[in-house]
Amino acid sequence: TQYVYRFGGGVSEGGSGDKNLLGGKGANLAEMSSIGLPVPPGFTISTEMCTRYYEEGQAFPDELREQVAAGIAHVEQITGKGFGDAADPLLVSVRSGARVSMPGMMDTVLNLGLNDETVKGLADTSGDPRFAWDSYRRFIQMYCDVVLGLDHDAFEEALEIAKEDKGIYLDTEMESEDWQKLVGEYMRLAEAELGHPFPQDPQDQLWGAVGAVFGSWQAERAKVYRRINDIPGDWGTAVNVQAMVFGNMGETSATGVAFTRDPATGERAYYGEWLINAQGEDVVAGIRTPQYLTTAARQRAGAKPAAMEEAMPETFVELAKVFDLLENHYRDMQDIEFTVERGKLWMLQTRSGKRAAKAALKIAVDMAGEGLITEEEAVLRVDPGALDQLLHPTLDPEAERDVIARGLPASPGAASGVVVFDADTAEHRAAMGDDVILVRVETSPEDIHGMHAAKGILTARGGMTSHAAVVARGMGRPCVSGTGSVAIDAKAKMFTAMDREIGEGDMITIDGATGEVMVGEVATIQPELAGDFGQLMVWADKSRRMRVRTNAETPADCRTAREFGAEGIGLCRTEHMFFDAARITAVRQMILAENEAGRRTALGKLLPEQRQDFTEIFTIMAGLPVTIRLLDPPLHEFLPHGEDELQEVADAVDVSIDTLRRRVSELHEFNPMLGHRGCRLGVTYPEIYEMQARAIFEAALDVAEKSGEAPIPEIMVPLVATRRELELMKAVIDRTADAVFEEKGARVDFLVGTMIELPRAALRAGEIAEQAEFFSFGTNDLTQTALGVSRDDAGRFLGTYVDQGIYPRDPFVTLDVEGVGELIALAAERGRATKPNVKLGICGEHGGDPASIAFCEQVALDYVSASPYRVPIARLAAAQAAL
Ligand code: PEP
Ligand code: MG
Repeated sequence: TQYVYRFGGGVSEGGSGDKNLLGGKGANLAEMSSIGLPVPPGFTISTEMCTRYYEEGQAFPDELREQVAAGIAHVEQITGKGFGDAADPLLVSVRSGARVSMPGMMDTVLNLGLNDETVKGLADTSGDPRFAWDSYRRFIQMYCDVVLGLDHDAFEEALEIAKEDKGIYLDTEMESEDWQKLVGEYMRLAEAELGHPFPQDPQDQLWGAVGAVFGSWQAERAKVYRRINDIPGDWGTAVNVQAMVFGNMGETSATGVAFTRDPATGERAYYGEWLINAQGEDVVAGIRTPQYLTTAARQRAGAKPAAMEEAMPETFVELAKVFDLLENHYRDMQDIEFTVERGKLWMLQTRSGKRAAKAALKIAVDMAGEGLITEEEAVLRVDPGALDQLLHPTLDPEAERDVIARGLPASPGAASGVVVFDADTAEHRAAMGDDVILVRVETSPEDIHGMHAAKGILTARGGMTSHAAVVARGMGRPCVSGTGSVAIDAKAKMFTAMDREIGEGDMITIDGATGEVMVGEVATIQPELAGDFGQLMVWADKSRRMRVRTNAETPADCRTAREFGAEGIGLCRTEHMFFDAARITAVRQMILAENEAGRRTALGKLLPEQRQDFTEIFTIMAGLPVTIRLLDPPLHEFLPHGEDELQEVADAVDVSIDTLRRRVSELHEFNPMLGHRGCRLGVTYPEIYEMQARAIFEAALDVAEKSGEAPIPEIMVPLVATRRELELMKAVIDRTADAVFEEKGARVDFLVGTMIELPRAALRAGEIAEQAEFFSFGTNDLTQTALGVSRDDAGRFLGTYVDQGIYPRDPFVTLDVEGVGELIALAAERGRATKPNVKLGICGEHGGDPASIAFCEQVALDYVSASPYRVPIARLAAAQAAL
């Protein structure tokens, strides 16, 4: 089996299509090499080898050793250097590279191949002994940390002591002899810890590093990252071994990271950061604050140090050409790492760049406009889930802002929350229901769980490409990074900015679009829905087949949903209308009535109120279908539970407190979700559904007359299990319709249908369809009843269930396609067999979840219904599902 794939120097045994085998980094190195870009030669050990490595108890087969030897020979031949050659040594980097990028999660070793002999060769060939000894000490330090697992604090300390002894502050003031002395010290430290000398043989070093990279795939932080990002554990990582090029060979050398467009805004401008005389890790690790790439960006930021465009104009022009070439080649925004070694440009990585939601939208729309991609591709480029960030409010520009600091706008969006200083506390307080802002000097992969739990992230150090910035953008968390003016004392759980002290638990607001940090909570405003967003939605609507409706019952929600493009209401839950303070008394009177006559009197008071509700909704939804669900919850939900409330309610309803107490206890149920609710209420008290039906028809006639545009009510019966239940309820509705139409001398079209939210209903959908003109899948209850998992209590154990792989995701968020999905597919098929044009929709929470929407397309539902803010997400997801 081939495990080693070479690239560089005109050779390229793979391309960007080979990500599964070579990992993202390896595949793109091969691709860049094949299109003639300057890539340092190297080879990739495949992800298949990673899998085999674990299968064989973490051992390397002989055939791999042979292939790696050939790979090294390839690099030696192209560079003209020798691995372990004391006169002209080849140094390599060893890096991980999974199919998808996992920023900062896995291990890297640089400068490998140095030892007590080759360091001298490097000093000679480079003509720069200081550089050689600095590289050697970096290598020892990194290797001890990453491969040998030694505590790196001891090494940091040794460096600090060396600087103190010499009376200097900066690494750059260390001279060749100083580094050489420090190397000796490092060697002693390593040997003391290891019990044997630091490995001198480059071959031993290489295999150690390869093993460490494979090992990092199973590190705890990598596992957490995979869980959060839904990355399967069996993918494995590839290992890239590549000739070193040096950005730290003096003032004509540099290293940087860049995006071909702005990853925060999507603006079409080169965007990036670089450092003169530095190695790549210095930029990403946030140790030195990097500088701007372009003059324009530098000027905009009011920064002094020269941009690359100014300091290295020729190399910059060359780099800009590479950016254009890569973007045209990949037809997407690229995230690039490069190094300049003594004026020569080298490309170290390219990949599709992670971007904020706003940028994703702009880039997709712009690229379609530029003709680089098609409109359909643009629709497919934007993650529907990420739209969430754009649809939510941003800070009100008019609101008072008590700004105490300003950092880099690293990931857009605004967030308010209480300050916490470590990831565990963030996770803990978020679980308790607090909105938290995680405040760190800088973040590391160990903070991932806290970043995920936080509403926003604030760091004191690090640039736009620091760990915090990259991870926050990927997660859609607002982030302000590199806020140098906040002084954090994590031990004391406080930070100071502009002489103000902010402690753990204090409320702050961050604006990831401006970089502002404010004390207290700041008011927000609604997002802008025209522009790029509107354009993408137009394209999405052209591509989708399913209709998108909304779940709404208040006029405000209905209006929001219409603005977001809802094409009707898929679920209007009428019970929410009964909780209104003015009505609840009549509702309670109805519940407490001793007989039908008493109930009818109380319902008579509710009728005009309910009619008014529907009139408003029909008016807002003029010309669109409106699905109204008749009363669903168990009646006890409308009664008071606390002793103190009882007397008040008894007085209001005008019954004795004993009567009220007796009725409350009569209505008590052990399993109310499986109890006297849904159509069971209508079967036992048909007058309730009769009143609701009357309110619907009267309102519809009213609106039809006033507006000239008749609404299309779709009356929906909840929690049906049998054909007979629906037959009885339909009779009540039809009878009421006849009566109202007769009284008014006018009629409207309407449909009667049912929710399918019990397994029995799904199974018997064939006969239920005889009575129904539509089905709406109530996947909240259907999930609850199919899985036998209480939707209200599942939180206590579902997390563990997902961790243990019992369900791939929370089945109340993303449809359990295998189980609940099968019930839906079967019901759709059986319902259509009886009535080919039976209208099918979904109104459970899953109707706004992109993965579940894809399933709805597969079973050819007619529409999905989602909460107002999820309507655009559903429109985009439905389009993607259809494409
Ligand atoms: C459902 O069960 O999926 C549904 C939409 O109804 P509710 O959430 O009101 O029970
Ligand atoms: Mg339900």
